[in-house]
Amino acid sequence: MISESSASSNNSILVWLRKDLRLRDHPSFHAAILEGKPILPVYIWDPEEGGQWSPGAASRWWLHHALHSLSKDIQKLGGALILKKGKAAEVLPSLAKEHNINKIFYSRAYDPPGIATQEAVENALDPAGIDSESFNASLLQEPWETKNGTGKPFQVFTPYWRKSREVIYREPAKYPLSKLSFVSPKECPSPVQDLGLLPHHSWHQKLEDHWNVSEDAAHVQLDRTVNEVTKSYATRRNNPSVDGTSRLSPYLAWGLISPRQICQAVLQSESEGSHRGENKYLVEIGWREFSYHLLYHFPSLPDQPLRAKYASFPWIEDKANLGRWQFGNTGYPMVDAGMRQLYETGWMHNRVRMVVASFLVKHLLLSWNDGARWFWDTLVDADLASNTQGWQWAAGCGADAAPYFRIFNPITQGEKFDTRGEYARRWIPPLEKLPNKWVFRPWEAPADILESSGLDLGGNYPEPCIEHTEGRTRALAALATLKNIQP
Ligand SMILES: Cc1cc2nc3c(=O)[nH]c(=O)nc-3n(C[C@H](O)[C@H](O)[C@H](O)COP(=O)(O)OP(=O)(O)OC[C@H]3O[C@@H](n4cnc5c(N)ncnc54)[C@H](O)[C@@H]3O)c2cc1C
Repeated sequence: MISESSASSNNSILVWLRKDLRLRDHPSFHAAILEGKPILPVYIWDPEEGGQWSPGAASRWWLHHALHSLSKDIQKLGGALILKKGKAAEVLPSLAKEHNINKIFYSRAYDPPGIATQEAVENALDPAGIDSESFNASLLQEPWETKNGTGKPFQVFTPYWRKSREVIYREPAKYPLSKLSFVSPKECPSPVQDLGLLPHHSWHQKLEDHWNVSEDAAHVQLDRTVNEVTKSYATRRNNPSVDGTSRLSPYLAWGLISPRQICQAVLQSESEGSHRGENKYLVEIGWREFSYHLLYHFPSLPDQPLRAKYASFPWIEDKANLGRWQFGNTGYPMVDAGMRQLYETGWMHNRVRMVVASFLVKHLLLSWNDGARWFWDTLVDADLASNTQGWQWAAGCGADAAPYFRIFNPITQGEKFDTRGEYARRWIPPLEKLPNKWVFRPWEAPADILESSGLDLGGNYPEPCIEHTEGRTRALAALATLKNIQP
C-alpha cells in the first residue's frame, strides 16, 4: 500500500471528516480558514463503529462514491484526502504525530455509535497533547437546545417545531473555495477502493443508474428543489408517480449538503411576507431535526420502542411473509411497487414508506425492527434518527406516532395517491394493461379482463398474501392484548 507523507507541520490542522463529506458550509474547514492554517483532511472507515447499525450495503455504496468525489474535489484544490481503515481513537493520534500536528477539528455526531467514537477520540487525544474542537455540521440546532415547558425533551412534533423553527434562519458559513488551503501531498494517497466499501454482490450496480453522488450533484438537486419542487410541494408531495419531492435525503445523510444551505436557498426563493416557519417543505426539514432530538435524548430508540408497553407487543416471526414484503411480492400493488422501487433505486417515496411500513407491522404483524433493518440495508438515505422515528411512528410505538389502531388500507392508499396507477404500473409491469379500476385490487378484476391484460394472478404477479380485513382484524386483536399494560 502506498503511504502518505506530506509537508504538514504543527502549522496545519487535521480535519477528521465524518458525515460531512463536502467542501462548502463546512464548519471545520471554515475554522481552519479563520486560523489561516492548511488542512490535512482525513476520513477513517471503521466497519465496527455502528455495531449492528454499521452502514448497510446501500449506504456503503453511497459512501464509496461520496469519498471518491470529495477526493477529486480536494485534489483540484491541491490537497489529498487521506483514507484510513480502523478505530478513529487509534488512527487520529498516530496520524497527528506522523504529521507533527497538534490540532484536530471535526463535526459532532448525535447517534449513539458516533457519540461513543468521539468520546474515545477525545480520551485518546488528551494524553497525546493534541487539541481538538468539534462543530455542528449536520443540524440546524443542537438536539439539546430545545426543551419543553418542564425542561424535558419534546415528544410531540408540533410544539417542538413551534418552539425551534426560528433556527431555520441560521446562516451557512460562507467562504470562497479558493480560500481552502490543503496540505500538499508528497505521495499519492491510497484509493477509496482500498476501504472495501462496495458490497461483493452486484446489487449495488443498479444504483448507479439512479444517483449522481457528489457535492455538485447535491446542489443541482437543490436548484431543482427551489425552482420546481417547493412551489408545488404541498399539492404534489404525496403523489409517488411524480418527482414532487427534493430527493435530497441521501445527500443530507452523508453531509454532501447541509440543512442550513437548503433552508437558506428555500427561504431566499420565497416571496416576501410568506410565513417562513410554516413553509411545508421546511417543516419536513423540521421532522429531520425532531428525529435527531429524539435519538439524542432517547439513545435506546433504534432497538426499543419509546412507548414501553409496546416492548411486549405480540409480533410474529414469519420468514416467508418477510421475504414477500422485502422483494415486493405481497400481492398489494401499492406495497409491492414501493418495495420494488426501494430494491431497484435505494430510495422510496415517503407516502409509500408509510404504506409499506404500516402493512408490515399491521397486516403482517411483523416487528418494526425487521422493517427498520431492511430499510437500513437498502436505503441510500439510511439515517439512524429518521429511520427509527419513521418506523416507530408507523408502528404506533414512537413519539407523535399514529395510533396503532389506525390501519392504512393498502388498496385505497394506492387509489387516493396514485390515482392513475402510474407508479404501480412503473414498478410492476404485469399491471400495465390492467384498467385503472383494478390496478390496486387486481384480484377483483373479472377473468376476461385479467386475461386480456396479460396479468396472471399467482403467475406473473402474486395473489394477496393476506386478505385486507383479516389482516386488520388480526392486528386489532394483537393490540387488544396490550390494553391492560400501563404505558
Ligand atoms: C418507515 C420510514 C422510514 C424512513 N427512513 C428514513 C431514513 O432512513 N432516512 C431519511 O432521511 N428519511 C427517512 N424517512 C423519512 C422520509 O421518508 C424521507 O426523508 C424522504 O422520503 C426523503 O425523500 P426526499 O428527500 O425527497 O424528501 P422531501 O419530501 O423532499 O423532504 C426534504 C427532507 O426533509 C427530511 N424529511 C422528510 N420527511 C421526513 C420525515 N418523515 N422524517 C424525518 N425527516 C424527513 C429529509 O431529510 C428530506 O430529504 C423514513 C420515513 C418512514 C415512514
